[in-house]
Amino acid sequence: MQVTFWGTRGSIAKAGPGTVRYGGNTSCVSIRTDGGTQLVLDCGTGAHGLGQHLLATADGRPVDGHILISHTHWDHIQGLPFFAPLFVQGNTWHISGPSGLGGSLGEILAGQMEYRYFPVEIGQLSAHVEHHDLVEGTFEIDDIVVSTQYLNHPALTLGYRIEADGAVVVYSSDHEPYDQELAVGGDLGRNRHDDAHARFVADADLLIHDAQYLGAEYPDHVGWGHSTVEYVVDLARRAGVHRVALYHHDPSRTDAQVDALLELAREHAATAGYDGEILAAAEGSTVEVRGGRPRPTVSGARTSSAAASALAARSNLAVVCARTPEIADALAGAARAEHLEVIATDDLHEAFDAVRSREPGIVLIEAIADAVGFDLVAAIRHLERPTASGVPIIMVGRSEARWRLDADETHITEWLVWPASPFFLRTKLRAWLLRRSSRWQNAPLPDDEAQRIEALHGLGVLDTAPEQRFDRHADEIRATLDVPIALVSLVDTERQWFKSHRGVDVVETPREMSLCAHAILGDDVLQVEDTLADPRFADNPLVADAPRLRFYAGMPLTLADGSRVGTLCVADYRPRHLDDDQLAALRRVATAVTTELQRR
Ligand SMILES: [Zn+2]
Ligand SMILES: [Zn+2]
Repeated sequence: MQVTFWGTRGSIAKAGPGTVRYGGNTSCVSIRTDGGTQLVLDCGTGAHGLGQHLLATADGRPVDGHILISHTHWDHIQGLPFFAPLFVQGNTWHISGPSGLGGSLGEILAGQMEYRYFPVEIGQLSAHVEHHDLVEGTFEIDDIVVSTQYLNHPALTLGYRIEADGAVVVYSSDHEPYDQELAVGGDLGRNRHDDAHARFVADADLLIHDAQYLGAEYPDHVGWGHSTVEYVVDLARRAGVHRVALYHHDPSRTDAQVDALLELAREHAATAGYDGEILAAAEGSTVEVRGGRPRPTVSGARTSSAAASALAARSNLAVVCARTPEIADALAGAARAEHLEVIATDDLHEAFDAVRSREPGIVLIEAIADAVGFDLVAAIRHLERPTASGVPIIMVGRSEARWRLDADETHITEWLVWPASPFFLRTKLRAWLLRRSSRWQNAPLPDDEAQRIEALHGLGVLDTAPEQRFDRHADEIRATLDVPIALVSLVDTERQWFKSHRGVDVVETPREMSLCAHAILGDDVLQVEDTLADPRFADNPLVADAPRLRFYAGMPLTLADGSRVGTLCVADYRPRHLDDDQLAALRRVATAVTTELQRR
């Protein structure tokens, strides 16, 4: 990959004699693969120069490509209306980014091109332009595999992990340490969010990372959503990054000051024991990145804009439990701004009842010094229905309460230090709602749902006692495939009910948790080799919580009239792969089960 910096500045463009060497344009990086795929990371004012360059070197061919926007703050999109390839007929551009606060990416980008601000509207662009709203996941662009992860910033922001040509480049702009104490340096392994960030950038050949501040400057910039040099160096060390480009330079920094910042980064690296290469991103410079890694496998599909908005609707209810009026107002206000219905209370029992009976999409709790907030978390996590117990819980508290974090960490989804800006709160809400819904998808109803349910009920088998004639088939397939769990699962209107359940002591689950509800959409085996790697199932309570299924294979039970009433399915606690012979066995036994079902 050829990585070129077209804009390295954060916040606002800063032209002038003081920014000649590192450049004055805002965020824009281009990546060109050996195969010729053109990627653009962010479209700050640097995109103007890139666009000119692409047209000048096009040689009469169309200039096509893909733009990945980290987020829609000015410094990352302001060059888009000046990106010349969008104005040339015959060119095709895909613009992807996180769906921002309160609108799709396309709507937000159109906003900055309204006639009040710009003489050409987005719909009048001559090139063919498509917008894609992204959530966390993995997708492919030609010869590139892209993975995304939310960053810690007061607007919904995605980092991009780009794998191509046997190498990895990670673009992580506009990110603040989750643990503010790490801004002056320290071990990222101490908390799971910074550790997750390290895993996202792990082993990168080139990490382009926000390093706007020095640790000493950080106290005046807490909550602004940016990193420090010390944090980035410690991140690179922990993550085994080979080369780091300090990026998103503060607009007030001169070239000499960026030199000094780089010097400080290298000193910190020497002290901390990081021996990778550190450079400060300079406008106009190109870095060659290559390696010998195999191409990664992709399990998830690209999430289209339609999918992203449909996904967000699992539950639009937020339960807020806070006692400090200022915090209660801020939490409820953020939830309402995100168009959520809000139940707000200062009473722990009321909050608990609301979570149990209403199954909200998100819960916000104020951490209270006497630890009662943590009791509420524990009570929620012990609820029986996984749809209630697995709800994302954001806890907000003053930094003094942080000491609770280690002990209770696994139960809290995310910890926010108060005071937190309304934008940070909204971003967290949106990110967790999207995360949950994008990694756990309800199966759509089959086209013949009404007829299918009628056929199922007509069998007269639902809610009958276990029978040897079904159990022996389940036992047979369990032994043949050497799996711990085998089920004869019938997908009813609101539930899946097990006529036979071998290896697991459950008679039914809600349909929204049913993997079989996905299997009956096809006419052959649905094999999920690793549920955690599949965005449809990773956060399904049967996967994320007990019994923690990692493998699933279900063969539809198809009646004579064509109705797929359920499955014969097998499951395991570890990833598996069924070969052709094993799949054939599953099909064969499923046919025998279907025969039994229709015998009455
Ligand atoms: Zn920025
Ligand atoms: Zn920003």
